[in-house]
Amino acid sequence: MARPELMLETLLDLERARQREHELRLESEALVEGLKAITFSEDTDTLFAAILDVLRNLLAFDEGFILGVQDDGSFTPIVSTARRFVGSRWQPQSLFSRVLAGRPVAAFDVGLVPEWQAQAPELRAGTASALHLRLRGEAHPAILVCTHPEARYFGPAHVKLAERYTPLVSQALLTAELRDALRERDRFFDLSLDLMAVIGFDGCFRQVNRAWAHSLGYDGSALVGRDLRSLLHEDDREKAETALKQLTVSKDRSECEVRFRHRERNFRWLSCRAVAYADEQLIYLSARDVTDRVEAEQRLLHDALHDPLTGLTNRIGFMEPLRRALIQAQRHSGRCFAVMAIDVDRFKVVNDSLGHLAGDDLLKDLARRIQAVVRAGDVVSRLGGDEFAVLLTEINEPADAARIAQRLEERLKLPSCIQGQDVFATVSIGITLSNLGYQQAEEMLRDADTAMYFAKVQGKSRYVIFDRSMHHKAVNRLQLETELRKSIQAEQLTLHYQPIVALKDRRITGFEALLRWIHPEQGMVSPAEFIPVAEETGLIVPIGQWVFQEACRQARTWAQRYPERHTVVNVNISPRQFWQHNFVDYIKTTMSSLEVDPATVALEITESVIMYNAQEASDIFRALKDLGLKIYIDDFGTGYSSLSYLHRFPFDGLKIDRSFVQGMEQDDASRELVNTILLLAKNLSLKVVAEGVETTVQWERLRELGCGWAQGFLFARPQPGEDADGLLRRS
Ligand code: C2E
Ligand code: CA
Ligand code: CA
Repeated sequence: MARPELMLETLLDLERARQREHELRLESEALVEGLKAITFSEDTDTLFAAILDVLRNLLAFDEGFILGVQDDGSFTPIVSTARRFVGSRWQPQSLFSRVLAGRPVAAFDVGLVPEWQAQAPELRAGTASALHLRLRGEAHPAILVCTHPEARYFGPAHVKLAERYTPLVSQALLTAELRDALRERDRFFDLSLDLMAVIGFDGCFRQVNRAWAHSLGYDGSALVGRDLRSLLHEDDREKAETALKQLTVSKDRSECEVRFRHRERNFRWLSCRAVAYADEQLIYLSARDVTDRVEAEQRLLHDALHDPLTGLTNRIGFMEPLRRALIQAQRHSGRCFAVMAIDVDRFKVVNDSLGHLAGDDLLKDLARRIQAVVRAGDVVSRLGGDEFAVLLTEINEPADAARIAQRLEERLKLPSCIQGQDVFATVSIGITLSNLGYQQAEEMLRDADTAMYFAKVQGKSRYVIFDRSMHHKAVNRLQLETELRKSIQAEQLTLHYQPIVALKDRRITGFEALLRWIHPEQGMVSPAEFIPVAEETGLIVPIGQWVFQEACRQARTWAQRYPERHTVVNVNISPRQFWQHNFVDYIKTTMSSLEVDPATVALEITESVIMYNAQEASDIFRALKDLGLKIYIDDFGTGYSSLSYLHRFPFDGLKIDRSFVQGMEQDDASRELVNTILLLAKNLSLKVVAEGVETTVQWERLRELGCGWAQGFLFARPQPGEDADGLLRRS
């Protein structure tokens, strides 16, 4: 049987324990409430007020305050339970250092503590003992000071209690501070002009800031939960997918520019930077709307690659797909493609006669028609001026290219209605095929161009497919051109003279001056070879001037030596020379400075100059006639000649082309034609010179038909001036 006093003690213990348990529950309930208050307090003041409240309940102190650190290192209360503490200053001495180091300090008698002694008496009034505790917060290191009117009120029990609970309070304080920081971050997040978002590794938005939402036409948090990829432009999805995969697997950083669909408008270009945090499975995104910049760049790029008139790609824009096609063809040997160079024939005539605006309209119309003929995947380009190029991306056999060229010729031949007028244009097309084994895109275009040039030479309005021999010819031609440029200075040019004789008695009445080029290596180069080149490059102008001066000198010499013979020197004038704007002036000043009698000079001009612009040609003929020169139509019958124009121009005569004269022996048609020309000339009182007479049969036929003059190997070959002089003397 237990002793009664022992029983009592046990009961008392039990009662005390129960009491203690009750107190603890109260304590912890108060603590929970207090911590809630701390955690959810709106600002620092309420936060510290709540802390103070909680601790007052826990530690059962009388009055208290929480000290915060000032800039000068001193401490002042942030909150306090009694008015008298407000505004007090506490110098940092060893007491606070110890407290801040983490140890609660209980002062049994504040009269012995220097910090307390330094304070005014009214502040100390009512405080006998005090407890000092550190509250751990990152942003706000703070010290709680509890006071009590009884000395020795705070002791080890309080310190123990404080050590048990202040960590919780500190934790709550940290949480509150963190939340403040988060709120700050949230505010910046929404305030930021940069677009910011957080997405999960699944690609869905967790957070999107206002700027981001607004840039895509949404409000606030409308995008949260949406899959980022569902907002992207189709063409950018793969790019985003790759970036996302890398971020979730291997890389922690990535940057890319993608298009996001705007809620109402098209797309916005966002330049995004991403950082992934694998632990949290989150990706932080920061972006900038770069639509204006990207669009400006695209515009610039477009302008750099396109022709503003037709909207087609330009030369640079053509070369890129051509290069790609070439690489493809090199990889897959079976594939073949073609390049076409297209040049509008006589485009200059349209431009000169109808004006540049009409010329532009014609080019636009042709561009449209070319596009209509080729396939959608083909590339049509305007290389410049009246030159187009087409890349036929896929053809099965070379004949396909030819068929397309044929179709182009047919379609482009149809009239274009320009400024209410039907304008006809034809084109010359050069084609080259990739199966010639090209390495460079430039080579392909060059060869297509060369073939086009051959199409021109062969009479325009046709297509020519390139073959290797053309390249050599083209290279030779280029060399010819370079050398021809130097020929005048190098004094490699000379004139030969071929007599023109009266058919009845073979007496020489004049000479045709024929140009010869004595090439240092090749010897005599035929004018048939170099005149077309000179014509095309414009070199014919200075060369023609040299010819005219030289022929004038010869005409003057003969006029001085044989004044009674009235020898006339015929000079060939090329169309390009004829259409020089100062042509008539040039002829006039040359003749007067060389003191030549205009009656001793005749000009030979081909029909094509009339076709170019009949009205203006007529004015120029008049002006030349007024100078006293004679004018002959050269190569009569070979051009587009309509006989009807003959009477409208002040010609002195015409020269029947060699081909008809030589045909007379074999076929009746040529004889008929010569006959008709002679009858016509007679009616119009024009002199007729038959060219290329080589046989006595031809001579006799021409005589029978009543032709007055002739020229040909039968009488004499073209020869140097001195030799011609000898012929004239003996004739
Ligand atoms: P073209 O004006 O028809 O000149 C007549 C051509 O016929 C000359 O050729 C002459 O040598 C050639 N010929 C003369 N008689 C006979 C003959 O009996 N049989 C044959 N088969 N041919 C004969 P060439 O000198 O080779 O000149 C060729 C062309 O070059 C000329 O044709 C003319 O269009 C052009 N040309 C020559 N010199 C000049 C020039 O100074 N200026 C310009 N613009 N063109 C010129
Ligand atoms: Ca001639
Ligand atoms: Ca001729």
